[in-house]
Amino acid sequence: MDRLVVIGGDAAGMSAASQARKRRGPDELQIVAFERGRATSYSACGIPYWISGAVEREEQLVTRSPEQHRRNHIDVRTRTEVVGIDLAARHVRARDLESGEEYTEPFDDLVYAAGSVPARPPVPGIDAAGVYGVQTLDDGAALRAALTDAVHRVVIVGGGYIGLEVAEACQVRGLAVTVVDRSPTPVGMFDPDIGTFIADAVRGLGIDLVLGDGVTEIATDADGRATAVHTASGRQLAADLVVLGLGVRPNVALAREAGIPLGPSGGIAVDHRMRTEAAGVWAVGDCVESIHRLSGQRVVVALGTHANKQGRVAGINLGGGYATFPGVIGTAITKVCDVEVARTGLSEAEAEAAGYRFVTAAVDSTTRAGYFPGAQPIRVKLVAEKRTGRLLGAQIVGRDDAAKRIDVLATAIWNEMHVEEVLSLDLSYAPPFSPVWDPVLIAARKAQDAVEADFR
Ligand SMILES: Cc1cc2nc3c(=O)[nH]c(=O)nc-3n(C[C@H](O)[C@H](O)[C@H](O)COP(=O)(O)OP(=O)(O)OC[C@H]3O[C@@H](n4cnc5c(N)ncnc54)[C@H](O)[C@@H]3O)c2cc1C
Repeated sequence: MDRLVVIGGDAAGMSAASQARKRRGPDELQIVAFERGRATSYSACGIPYWISGAVEREEQLVTRSPEQHRRNHIDVRTRTEVVGIDLAARHVRARDLESGEEYTEPFDDLVYAAGSVPARPPVPGIDAAGVYGVQTLDDGAALRAALTDAVHRVVIVGGGYIGLEVAEACQVRGLAVTVVDRSPTPVGMFDPDIGTFIADAVRGLGIDLVLGDGVTEIATDADGRATAVHTASGRQLAADLVVLGLGVRPNVALAREAGIPLGPSGGIAVDHRMRTEAAGVWAVGDCVESIHRLSGQRVVVALGTHANKQGRVAGINLGGGYATFPGVIGTAITKVCDVEVARTGLSEAEAEAAGYRFVTAAVDSTTRAGYFPGAQPIRVKLVAEKRTGRLLGAQIVGRDDAAKRIDVLATAIWNEMHVEEVLSLDLSYAPPFSPVWDPVLIAARKAQDAVEADFR
């Protein structure tokens, strides 16, 4: 019987395991999945909403528990960490985190799905009590338990989308929240003009945003507990609790040690069927690099949407089918309270780095007909290639479901549409849903004007 070992029991790893099981029964394929934490197939994306209370119970974030996987004949070993991979001997070394016992588990095929590692700046106090991360469900549980009545002031280090989602969660809980980031605008994947819009909106919610200022130290009391975050400019931000939301890098340490080749971006190199360059070793999720369909570059984009798709692809292939992962275009969405932001394709900086010559167009409109109750502002910004008018990128900020319009633009970019085609799209219209010219269409019209003006 063939043996499949999976390292990492969340989105990517368990998607691969489940798809492989769907195609090959337990009499044909033995599947063992190792997970360091307590839970499998959980939504890390939902952690901020569990912290805020919008999601009430931890179990709601778990799509499939270890028991459910076991009933599906997947031998899940939770609280068990893989500590080594021996490609020549075809086995992994696993450590039971409860008993400390170590043993080897043989494999014919291996799926490496170890996710990502959160960034931790090398500043004094970073490991102090009262400093929390939000990477795994166990992290989320620890942070949630720490938010007792004694906590009033929270400082969040990092103004990326995870930092801002946690800021919202703490704000909703009635805490005084400060977010500190060394960049001049939050959520670095947006252009600075959209970032400024986000910053204003976040401040408007009562969240204190300290930008352009790096963290130099986390000060502690006599018991070693975090009490304040010190910054390069000399600020001392008092904190009962500190949360790190500084972004992530691919968790490739075990793979590197084993000799599984990495790509230029630092993620594991895989082909379109999610095979690594090591025979019988597959890699999926946050730890791999993907092809960006516009820049052609290999990039690491740590998002659950890709992790699930890549896991499915690897699982189908392992199960004897044929599936491919066609790459990414950088689509992402988030919100802070009622302020929503989304992006797809290339930002201005990314388009420049990829060697494109481009024009931009930004429009301010409303989410519904201007006269219709509930209409809210929306800004749509487009990046289009000079001469051809090909749509390269889009960013949206607004309220009232504004940001989900990004999917229309993502579909257009995916299909290599030009702004002239986008402006003619047969999109739906009725006053409760959009102005007669949807903001997406107005932005495309304006981008087309810019493309034409460039010809003159
Ligand atoms: C707070 C937060 C919010 C997010 N919001 C969004 C969102 O809105 N939209 C979106 O698309 N994405 C979002 N993401 C990203 C998304 O959660 C990840 O991209 C996704 O979980 C990646 O899945 P994965 O299986 O590759 O890695 P992970 O989910 O990180 O799973 C990897 C697993 O491997 C385990 N592991 C690692 N090393 C070992 C080892 N040696 N032995 C055993 N087990 C090991 C870890 O414990 C972990 O459970 C968010 C992430 C966070 C943290």
